[in-house]
Amino acid sequence: MRRANHDKVTPVQVVACANCGEAMRPHRACGACGHYNGRKAVAVKTPA
Ligand SMILES: [Zn+2]
Repeated sequence: MRRANHDKVTPVQVVACANCGEAMRPHRACGACGHYNGRKAVAVKTPA
């Protein structure tokens, strides 16, 4: 039985945000604080 080799699931990568420590996708702005690469890249609404 031949089996296709294209059904491997890529595990989701997460790294800790350097600013808030929240788990975030690498090479993406932090979803919690909006920081990326040591600076604020995305505006994030922070409650009060
Ligand atoms: Zn963060």
